[in-house]
Amino acid sequence: MTREDEQVTDRLKDALAGVVGPRNVLTAPDEQVPFVTDWRGAYSGRALAVVRPGSTDEVSRVVGLCAEAGVAVVPQGGNTGMCGGAVPDESGQAVVLSLSRMNRVLSVDPLNLTMTLQAGCVLQVAQQAALEAGRLFPLSLAAQGSCQIGGNISTNAGGINVLRYGNTRDLVLGLEVVLPDGRVWDGLRGLRKDNRGYDLKHLFIGAEGTLGIVTRAVLKLHPAAPSSATAFVGVADPAAAVRLLARLQGACGTHLSAFELIGRKCLDLVVRHRGERDPFEQRHAWYVLMQLAGGGEEATLREGLEQVLADALAAGDADDAIVAGTMAQADGLWRLRETIPEATVANGPAFRSDIAVATADVPAFIEAAAEELAARHPGAEMLCFGHLGDGNLHFNATSPPDGADWPRGVSEAVYPVVERFNGSFSAEHGVGQAKRAELVRYKSAIEIELMRTIKQALDPRGLMNPGKVL
Ligand code: FAD
Repeated sequence: MTREDEQVTDRLKDALAGVVGPRNVLTAPDEQVPFVTDWRGAYSGRALAVVRPGSTDEVSRVVGLCAEAGVAVVPQGGNTGMCGGAVPDESGQAVVLSLSRMNRVLSVDPLNLTMTLQAGCVLQVAQQAALEAGRLFPLSLAAQGSCQIGGNISTNAGGINVLRYGNTRDLVLGLEVVLPDGRVWDGLRGLRKDNRGYDLKHLFIGAEGTLGIVTRAVLKLHPAAPSSATAFVGVADPAAAVRLLARLQGACGTHLSAFELIGRKCLDLVVRHRGERDPFEQRHAWYVLMQLAGGGEEATLREGLEQVLADALAAGDADDAIVAGTMAQADGLWRLRETIPEATVANGPAFRSDIAVATADVPAFIEAAAEELAARHPGAEMLCFGHLGDGNLHFNATSPPDGADWPRGVSEAVYPVVERFNGSFSAEHGVGQAKRAELVRYKSAIEIELMRTIKQALDPRGLMNPGKVL
């Protein structure tokens, strides 16, 4: 860096401190550590500064100052993303803009079924605020104690309730966004119908911070579903699991809120690394965790679930079943699913994916992908689990003994199979810096061209989260 460059960055740091206060401009490397490395330690970089604004106006002024100085901005929420999207590159030239101080629920409107909050609000805090108003904010995922609404919106997060309530995109009614030049777009409306031209909010949902910074949001709430019934079921194979899903959808309709597939090896990992207990005496090749949720009597919901499971056991679509009798038992069954990501990390290096295919194609996909994996990487063990009800699977794999050409080699075994099934190589976690090559490889030229046109229109100087997505 030349002397002149140094003077420019020093002036920028002073100006940023003038906007957010010196305590909220972190420049010492040890203070920056949690902001420049992702939660798995898989991605790390360096930052010119980590800046923590406290309001939309401050975000706007920070982004405006960075734009003037030609400095890139990396928006960051809870930093729980899986693709390195919130981590700066190695250059040390970008500002990380953390939304963590903008963490308030601003209002809950139980009649309009909406809530308005700042983007740095932690997901669990948002869920709790909705509950206190007798309503439900249904987005739910294992990182909910740390991830933020702005991060959920920017990754279009899915989670365990997509089957019934949709992805984050389906839960956003309005947004406020600071654009790459510092201007503020106010689209903070709680309308369910609004056809005045292009629906701009959808550009920013799932954009992974490459088009602007989400600062506030109006989210859609649902009537509370205070009753639930949860079951853990052993099944012979994914085909049986899909048949069980069809049974439940037929018998329980929209009460079915979650339907998760868990491979045997994943259950072994949570038993070994998270101290959980296998709920069955017998081992099964596959498991399904399912939940019904509704407003009626809990006992009625449970009886309905027990009846469907009894029919499934009789027909051979299920081999073993436990229906939780208490909330504590239900929580225990959910832990078997929710601790899989941590147990996988504790187990050692793993290839991770979050693919989607049509739900009916899941069994054939798993068979074909497992065959490819075994043929190309003998010794690599398949770790497969995920949101079967949405056709979204984490088709993961442990490192093969020789570790050769891995994990890129595994992605080259698995993603072409996804493509054969007309699926998605990134159904939940986004692209970030992890899957840029796949984006170009698997999306059509016209899709890439349209995405680049949008990026160029909103961020012509490429200062908003560079090196991510495109
Ligand atoms: P970050 O990781 O901080 O950022 C993610 C991306 O969004 C980055 O590109 C960042 O630049 C951008 N960004 C963040 N905030 C803003 C903002 N305000 N404005 C503009 N851009 C912004 N994901 C799922 O979808 N489903 C799951 O079931 C799921 N389970 C998980 C389980 C575990 C244990 C963990 C650790 C993660 C899981 N994830 C899951 C991934 C992750 O939690 C989600 O992607 C989450 O939405 C990220 O939120 P965050 O606040 O941590 O965002």
